Amino acid sequence: MGDGDGWVRCDLGHRHWGRFGAAGILINDGGNFVLQHRAPWTHEGDTWGIPGGARDSHEDAVQAATREAVEEAAVDPASVRATGLLVDDHGGWSYTTVLARPQHPINPHAANAESTQIRWWPESEIAQLPLHRGFAGTWPRLRSVGSPVALIVDTHAAVAGVVPLPQGDDTAMPVQTLLETIYRLARFGISDRAEPDSVSQHSVSQHSLDALLPRIVLIGSDLPETESTSEWWQASVTLHRVRDSERAAAVEQACLTAFENDERVLVVSEESLQSTGYSVTHLSAIELATLGVSAVSAASEPD
Ligand SMILES: [Zn+2]
Repeated sequence: MGDGDGWVRCDLGHRHWGRFGAAGILINDGGNFVLQHRAPWTHEGDTWGIPGGARDSHEDAVQAATREAVEEAAVDPASVRATGLLVDDHGGWSYTTVLARPQHPINPHAANAESTQIRWWPESEIAQLPLHRGFAGTWPRLRSVGSPVALIVDTHAAVAGVVPLPQGDDTAMPVQTLLETIYRLARFGISDRAEPDSVSQHSVSQHSLDALLPRIVLIGSDLPETESTSEWWQASVTLHRVRDSERAAAVEQACLTAFENDERVLVVSEESLQSTGYSVTHLSAIELATLGVSAVSAASEPD
């Protein structure tokens, strides 16, 4: 039993499971979604919902949702990537739906007594199912979720604008500051509310989620060799160390890979990338610095 197990009453007067709120995982491949048929004895049993449960005090929403995916659906957290968050905040209690994409083929199945079945459903059939009330309330927003976002950053282009360069030629500190900004974006996401006009004009966000969790590729000659990947958000960040003369080609290659993954692409770079023939959204370094989520942090961060 985690320390989050227990009933609470929200500001709207409902009784909810999860002293620190609850979180669930909605795995999708773009057209199909993994749903859980809840065992008859569970709260609102015999309905379809998503694997999930109470958050423990030390867990953020992604940590709780991926733990539940292991326990209830036998999904290895390393096989899926969190791509977005939707927070249903009742005041005093919230439920965070964590959108996730498989990184390779997975076989989710009922792994404990809370489910009678766990399976993929096509998006068009889900509204006809007997749905758990909480999931039914958020499904209209969740079903329109777009492709995941890839953020590709030429560190040389970003550092000059994100943080003022210190006196002298020592750029170690600005790159470290950029890395901190990047890991914050990987963890808390890009917000509908905070995004710059140039992003919304390109419909990168469809305004259905509270945060988009991007896959981030950093390209530069000044990056550290390796970074630890012990936290889930670090696994979303790839550091690609190249010579200065190879930066532009590496950015273009990263964009092509993102298009092959069916991702929407945000780029901070010196080149315009017209030659790829694909549609990318160019961000200035200043826009990169303002992408971060503030509203969602409060709901997704452990207390
Ligand atoms: Zn409530």
